[in-house]
Amino acid sequence: MTSGHILKTAHEARELIRSGNVSSVELTQSVLDRIEQIDGNLNSYITVTGGKALERAASVDAAIASGDLDGPLAGVPVMVKDNMSTAGTLTTAGSQILKNFVPPYDAHVIERLNEAGAIIVGKGNLDEFAMGSSNENSSFPPTRNPWDTTRVPGGSSGGPAAAVAAGEAFISLGSDTGGSIRQPASLCGVVGMKPTYGLVSRFGLLAFASSLDQIGPFSRDVTDAANTLSVIAGHDPRDSTSSLDSGGVDYAADLNGDLSGVKLGVPKEYLVDGIEPGVRAAYEESLKVLEGLGASLEETSLPLTDQALAVYYIIAPSEASANLARYDGFKYGHSSESAQDAWEVMDMTRGEGFGAEVKRRIILGGYALSAGYYDAYYKKAQQVRTLIRQEFAGAFEKFDALVTPTSPTVAFEAGSRTDDLLAMYLSDVCTIPVNIAGLPGISVPGGFSDGLPVGLQVIGPQFGEQTIFNVTYAYEQATEWHEAHPSI
Ligand code: GLN
Repeated sequence: MTSGHILKTAHEARELIRSGNVSSVELTQSVLDRIEQIDGNLNSYITVTGGKALERAASVDAAIASGDLDGPLAGVPVMVKDNMSTAGTLTTAGSQILKNFVPPYDAHVIERLNEAGAIIVGKGNLDEFAMGSSNENSSFPPTRNPWDTTRVPGGSSGGPAAAVAAGEAFISLGSDTGGSIRQPASLCGVVGMKPTYGLVSRFGLLAFASSLDQIGPFSRDVTDAANTLSVIAGHDPRDSTSSLDSGGVDYAADLNGDLSGVKLGVPKEYLVDGIEPGVRAAYEESLKVLEGLGASLEETSLPLTDQALAVYYIIAPSEASANLARYDGFKYGHSSESAQDAWEVMDMTRGEGFGAEVKRRIILGGYALSAGYYDAYYKKAQQVRTLIRQEFAGAFEKFDALVTPTSPTVAFEAGSRTDDLLAMYLSDVCTIPVNIAGLPGISVPGGFSDGLPVGLQVIGPQFGEQTIFNVTYAYEQATEWHEAHPSI
């Protein structure tokens, strides 16, 4: 098997299986070889489950042959971010506190992947508990960008983004609380999609900020993202925020290249201070492409965009401080060996097990929720959150979708933002408002600046997944950015 095969899309790989040119076992082996060959330089994977994957692939090959299994992911090797529970397989959330944690059950999305015949080849690297924008907060060796290994892949789903970009998986799943799918997709030159809050069950996702977290796909093109969302979306009674009337949609069925009559808003606030000239130029070029496809574009204003980051850094840490209280040294994972009594177990386990960024957020969140500060911070942030939702709702009365840059910069040098928290937090300034409002957003390859990928973000109204897939599919048909791949 040549590396030509592994840089194909999942739907191309699926065709090769369907036509009998390749088996799932061979495809899986080729991905495992690729991981073996390059992951020492990339660190995309925390755990590779090669043996299990090959066994699964053999049984999937048999099921395909007997006609029991079909569908877009049958036999296709995928990676999942290491904050999704996999029964019997290490699930670390990138943290020392869970470095030996093997969950007893599968997350909902893992069940869905398995039912669809996907082959899970391993678990993807991430910033600890998904808190970060560069993967440098992982307590494992950090993932590097396959386009330039001196640079970061973005975060927190840096492993899943880099793996798809480098051919170490055809598809991967990430989670996006403030941009953790779309920002690394942008920096690694792949497609990354965050569904509407409630469309994909969070059951078995290790919680960071429960009112913001959503799981979504990384892929090499829009068709693969649409197919993967069709597999993982749908109601699940085990997640009380799971939407009742979702699921059963074939998002890839009617994709076409025509955008005539589609109204796209171009919010001027997303051309933020500090946007790199090369990113801006690529974005402006993309707007022309969309116009050429028949869409009507109009500048618009979303003045509260500016507030979203501040709102996020109150709400997300507040929820994190509550969610991460469960890691107390008794129930899950690490338990300090030097502790003398119950209090010390909690104290020392958390002291030893959590990294600096996680501790910072727990402290920040505890503060924002404490008596005396709750009204001034947490409650105020929730009120502004409502205003941000309303502002987006107003925009969607006029527009079918909004088009923005995904990230103000291309992939930055490793280490360049680790001492400057604000610079790190500003990496997500264009993606965070989408989570605050619970909307679907997608980043697709939208050009290059200095040889590094630039992402184009399309934001839709609530449950407007089909619209943003249509817009980005048409854009993809008219451009070649998604066909480029790193030479690693
Ligand atoms: N980078 C943001 C943060 O650090 C978003 C992370 C995410 O979406 N999980 O919180």
